[in-house]
Amino acid sequence: MNRRDFIKFSSLVLFSTTAFAKSDSKLFIKLPPKKLNYYHIKGKQKGGRVLLIGGIHGNEIGAYKASDLLIDSEITKGELLIIPRTNFTSILANVRGYNGDMNRKFENISEQDPDYYYVEALKNIILSYKPDVVISMHDGYGFANKNKRAWGQSIVIDEIVYKNFKLYKNARFVMDEANKIVKNKISIINTKTFSGFYHQEQKKALTGWCLKNGIEAYCIEASKQLESLEDKIYTHFAMLKGFFELYKIEIKNFDDIAENINKYLILKKPRLVLDINGRKIEVKNREILKVKRGSVIEVTEIDGHRGDYLVPRGVNLNWRSFHFSNLNFDIKRDYEKIFSINIKRI
Ligand SMILES: [Zn+2]
Repeated sequence: MNRRDFIKFSSLVLFSTTAFAKSDSKLFIKLPPKKLNYYHIKGKQKGGRVLLIGGIHGNEIGAYKASDLLIDSEITKGELLIIPRTNFTSILANVRGYNGDMNRKFENISEQDPDYYYVEALKNIILSYKPDVVISMHDGYGFANKNKRAWGQSIVIDEIVYKNFKLYKNARFVMDEANKIVKNKISIINTKTFSGFYHQEQKKALTGWCLKNGIEAYCIEASKQLESLEDKIYTHFAMLKGFFELYKIEIKNFDDIAENINKYLILKKPRLVLDINGRKIEVKNREILKVKRGSVIEVTEIDGHRGDYLVPRGVNLNWRSFHFSNLNFDIKRDYEKIFSINIKRI
């Protein structure tokens, strides 16, 4: 059976934010909704059910790219639910939190917060899917084994034991397995979220929220200071290897992906098609589009890879539609600019 048969793709269409301006002499653009996409891949053999969450912090590229690579992997046992780009707006901006730190919003979030629908949708997915474990993937600062205040190269647990979850014991297994194959060693950080004094804020984080809701959860952190993106992704794979053994997940080409990350990162370039007043136009790199006043522009498709999006330069990234008269746009693949266009009114 083709692996595509195993991929069930679903998404939640979220609210749109529109900036109104009383002007039909300008141009009006509607950008596609930034969906909270999740991907379910399932092996023929019964095994564990693991939820991988990437991209809560938008500038942690190794974390979201590692989760994204697994979407196309050949799973043979167990099932993975993968949400690679939880905070897509921050990924496009390549900042930790475009609307503040999303990983402090799981206990409470205002309905006015632009992150509201993403946080609530993620919580709903977790409560309805009820995975055996949630793994929240990050790239932290520095190296935890060299600096007590660094989070990079670590497995973060909220307690040694929480309810019937043996968090330290499992993290220890994962750490020992990973340390057989990584150059920069992995440590365990216990934040004592519920019993200690120093990391009370972790109760607001995803893993703290999961544990309180009876779902086992861990954070894994590569280091932002590793030399290459490939090293960061490899560190994530090294830690996931141990988790996959614990939770009975088997992926046929897991080692092949881990050993050839750069090969798997080469993807086709996006193709951008705009709809201008009902007419479809494919737009090329550096093209200057001259559009008559009052026109309505929509993005028909960006045929490329997950994470491709049309980003207006210098405009609030929470906006879905707005008026303008002359603006540059970047076609981005996550943090990376692939090509740029200019749209101006004539
Ligand atoms: Zn992070």
